[in-house]
Amino acid sequence: MLINPMLLQLVSEKNNLLIFYFHGLYANEDQKKAGHILPQNNITTKQFSEFIDYFLNLKYNFISIEDLLCGSLGEGPSVMITFDDGYFNNLLAVDVLEQYEVPAIFFVTTRNIMENTSMWADIIYKYRFKQAAGLKSIYQEQEFLKSYSYREINEYIFKNFGPESFKPWSDIDRFLTPEELTTLSKSPFVTIGNHTVNHAILINYEEEEIRKELLESNDFIEQRTGDRPLSLAFPNGDFNQSLLDIVEDLGFRVAFTTIGRNNKLPFENSKLLCLDRFMAEPSKVYKYADFCRLNYQPEMLYLSLKKRMLGKNKPVLH
Ligand SMILES: [Zn+2]
Repeated sequence: MLINPMLLQLVSEKNNLLIFYFHGLYANEDQKKAGHILPQNNITTKQFSEFIDYFLNLKYNFISIEDLLCGSLGEGPSVMITFDDGYFNNLLAVDVLEQYEVPAIFFVTTRNIMENTSMWADIIYKYRFKQAAGLKSIYQEQEFLKSYSYREINEYIFKNFGPESFKPWSDIDRFLTPEELTTLSKSPFVTIGNHTVNHAILINYEEEEIRKELLESNDFIEQRTGDRPLSLAFPNGDFNQSLLDIVEDLGFRVAFTTIGRNNKLPFENSKLLCLDRFMAEPSKVYKYADFCRLNYQPEMLYLSLKKRMLGKNKPVLH
């Protein structure tokens, strides 16, 4: 499905603030076929360059957290790049960002960095892919697990795949080391943000644990980079009002959801704590970005409907 270019010309994009989130980057096409991380979430570095080219050609300004906080967004539409989770392969983005001179924020999950473990959703994917399971059942298993705490998820993985399964398989699925996080943070085009200690879906936790997840990850990032994050991406995009109150109380200035929606400017200050983001898709950039410019992301709409349907029955873990 493609958008008719005539339609795009009829829409004013001047007040757009489009924010995109990426996960892992593949160094080349071959890495995609290895089955080490969810292919739907990741793109090649070539596709990443094409993404930046696409928006530069449309005269969008690429903006940073500082631009947002100063309110200096300049003339014309704006776009923002964010990366979630903290994969080692995110280092591949740095050359591209420096070549184009555009900023990006990297939200990192600190437990995986501290302990060199794989993301639980990747573990499910890798092992089930090896067992030749279909994508649909892999997604269902991942979605079911999201209603549980990280401790219960870890137990489930331990029981089903064994203790060795937490070890990454390659540079494709591994996370940054603490030293590599420091290296990443040194680029003038990079900001490091908070994505909790355990990739905790915060609405499933009590206040005390939420505070712990956010403060301990900020402590670690500050120790590794010298800067205390002011920004946060909610794991799985989930938030509610009581969570926003805690986030504000802890001093975070900017927080990001995964609701695929345009942030039309100008907006109230409170909007800074729940900025919406489109997911970057592993296809040609115009195939999804044309839709995002019209404030529409068909893939995310489909996923959120599916999630709502699946969410009704909390399964028993075994
Ligand atoms: Zn994440």
